[in-house]
Amino acid sequence: MNAQTSSSSGRAGRFLQRILNTVSTPTEEDLRTSALVFAPHPDDETLGCGGTILRKRDVGADVGIVFMTDGRTSHRRLISEDRLVAMRAQEAIAASRVLGVDERRVTLLDFADGQLDRHRDEAQRRIVTLLREQSPREIYIPCREEPPRDHWVTREIVLAAAREVGAPTTVLEYPVWFWYHWPWVSVMASAANQRRTILKNSLRERFGLRFRRVFNYAVSVDTMLERKRSALEQHATQMSQIDGNENWLTLEDVCDGEWLACFFQGVELFRRYDLEGAEQSGSA
Ligand SMILES: [Zn+2]
Repeated sequence: MNAQTSSSSGRAGRFLQRILNTVSTPTEEDLRTSALVFAPHPDDETLGCGGTILRKRDVGADVGIVFMTDGRTSHRRLISEDRLVAMRAQEAIAASRVLGVDERRVTLLDFADGQLDRHRDEAQRRIVTLLREQSPREIYIPCREEPPRDHWVTREIVLAAAREVGAPTTVLEYPVWFWYHWPWVSVMASAANQRRTILKNSLRERFGLRFRRVFNYAVSVDTMLERKRSALEQHATQMSQIDGNENWLTLEDVCDGEWLACFFQGVELFRRYDLEGAEQSGSA
């Protein structure tokens, strides 16, 4: 059965529909499979797979969420790092709760935002312990070489840890900043200083063509969008101006809301493979 979406339209909607014609969708058994979701920063879990987490929890799947870093650098010079770290930890727990994941199943690894690369060995050690304790059959990680650095480093560390543990595991890579190119966002909808980056990303991704080859699996989340939005709203430091500060940018400010809309199209896309296939599928 093809995945479908009812909520996207126009340029991006047409692209999405073409992708959905070629992907597979989860069975009931897939939805019930235990999972551990790895988020480089608080909010990536909800953006990339919030609807999928909700669908899995609704059928009783055991799901845990691991936050790799503390998100301290999202609003430099606008708030003290200590205060922001404390706020984002609370937000991560609150968002997880809305997604149906109890605080006891949430792990905050608390590496400094932007510094994960410097702590690979320790991070891998701690993730190996988590994987051994929780034995998830699925792991969710950011996709491929997606920037920023914490995202692709998270992917590399988790894959290395899972290989070390050696248990049969299905990997689901989810896009977050991978959406940050045409046709998903238009160059002109962005602030002048973002246009060059979007153009560069669009060229690298061959204006959406590579996107179609990367993702092979889609979870319909049409009926979850309200709860997904509510989970995202728990990340108040990312969704609203704190202390009434007009210079405080939110996720809605990225490309005039076009980027955020990518996460509310009614489906969540994944690149899905068994761990043994990770090396060869990393070349696409
Ligand atoms: Zn992130």
